[in-house]
Amino acid sequence: METLKIFLAGRWREGRGELMQSRFPADGSLNAELHAANLDDVNDAVAAAERAWRAPEWRQQLPHQRAAILQRVSELIVEQLEPLAQLQTRDNGKPLAETRGLVASAAATARYFAAACEVLEGELPTQRSHDAMTLSQYQPLGVIAAITPWNSPIASEMQKVAPALAAGNAVILKPAEATPLMALKLAELFEQAGLPAGLLSVLPGKGSVIGEALARHPLVKKISFTGGTSTGRHLAHVAAEKLIPTSLELGGKSPTMVLADADLEQAARGICYGIFSSAGQACIAGSRLFVHRSLYQPLLARLCELASGLRVGNPLQPGVHLGPLINARHRQSVADYVALAQQEGGRVLIGGEIPADPQLANGSYYLPTIIEGLNNEARVCQEEIFGPVLVAMPFDDEAQLIEMANDSVYGLAAGIWSRDFPRAMALASQLETGTVWINTYKTFSISTPFGGFKHSGLGREKGLHGIKAYMQQKSVYLALNHQINRWSD
Ligand code: ADP
Repeated sequence: METLKIFLAGRWREGRGELMQSRFPADGSLNAELHAANLDDVNDAVAAAERAWRAPEWRQQLPHQRAAILQRVSELIVEQLEPLAQLQTRDNGKPLAETRGLVASAAATARYFAAACEVLEGELPTQRSHDAMTLSQYQPLGVIAAITPWNSPIASEMQKVAPALAAGNAVILKPAEATPLMALKLAELFEQAGLPAGLLSVLPGKGSVIGEALARHPLVKKISFTGGTSTGRHLAHVAAEKLIPTSLELGGKSPTMVLADADLEQAARGICYGIFSSAGQACIAGSRLFVHRSLYQPLLARLCELASGLRVGNPLQPGVHLGPLINARHRQSVADYVALAQQEGGRVLIGGEIPADPQLANGSYYLPTIIEGLNNEARVCQEEIFGPVLVAMPFDDEAQLIEMANDSVYGLAAGIWSRDFPRAMALASQLETGTVWINTYKTFSISTPFGGFKHSGLGREKGLHGIKAYMQQKSVYLALNHQINRWSD
């Protein structure tokens, strides 16, 4: 049995906190054990990070030198795509087909921010005077706390670490309790790529202890968080006390809507992927379905057919669509939501159960589930379930559709299925969500900003601005003459 070390200030050492275990959600088998970080580890990592980002060896590195490290990390990830995907699957139970995609996306993220770092420009504002020239420069913030969830570690962790380092900061990464393996592997890759010691530390441990201490540490100058809305709100309070910025990627209850002129097969397949991939454990999962009444019956029939054809099973096996949920507690919470839907008058069309296959008995599997007969006020339409549960509702006109789609505290993403592009675009402009997919769902591009409206978050990741989110602007006024400052007349 492997006992892992944590990565603290450029050294691999035993964490000084309690013993933690990483288990394969498919059968509960042990992946690895490690000692979590404790508060001394947090203090040591932050102190080292503060020294490291201020050190001339890092501050004076030119952008292409920082970019070279990220480029190398990207190459290392591509070289090890398969073992990394296996590791990610063992850590959180997502099927290999999905984790391969996540690993490839992490490599692309490192490559993109290497490029962004090289082409990042300061600004020369419009000059308003002949007496002074003004410049606007971008500078790093300092030590960044990156706090991540368990559902897509390699992708969400790279999305924070790469731009933060590209911008010249140091990063302390606190992965989710359930999934410490990938963050530690990333540390190994950055070390191999030649990142100077101290610029990245990885501190596994409890969110309420290690994450909290990190966020509160006076030398931490930004909290970049992905996770649940209540934790995000709490961290926004912590940041407000310290007057530091946050970037918060939070929950969702995303509507996906099928207009009367949609391509039914394209919509059904996209909706199925949008809710059931990752077994619904995605903040962007399209969990509320609105279908024009004229298509409602045939679309639901096709969705049930597609859902019953999905393979639920060991995520390491080829052809599996849904792996297990992260753990038994989470599965219970999903099952409780389905029971609640039934109490509120919902009808389960398909799923709503644990699979009967005895081979799956040791994992937290749950069947793809479709529920109807509820309206948008039902709790299962308002609260994030984070599981393979779709609630379908018919609509009659677009005004009603927009009202229902926007009737949510969340505003992360939405899907529209229609052959009428101008109409779909007009609808998209009225949706209160950070992302709208038209005739596709869960498609991503690293150059396109991502983030939420309303309680789904603050700030944006990805895109060229993704690097500036880890920087602060400095304006410099340079006198163009030798005049002495005068009091204005
Ligand atoms: P999820 O529902 O995805 O687990 P959480 O918000 O609970 O969402 O967790 C996301 C990340 O936030 C995890 O790494 C977790 O350990 C961390 N976390 C939880 N509570 C706190 C906290 N009080 N301060 C800092 N980090 C926290």
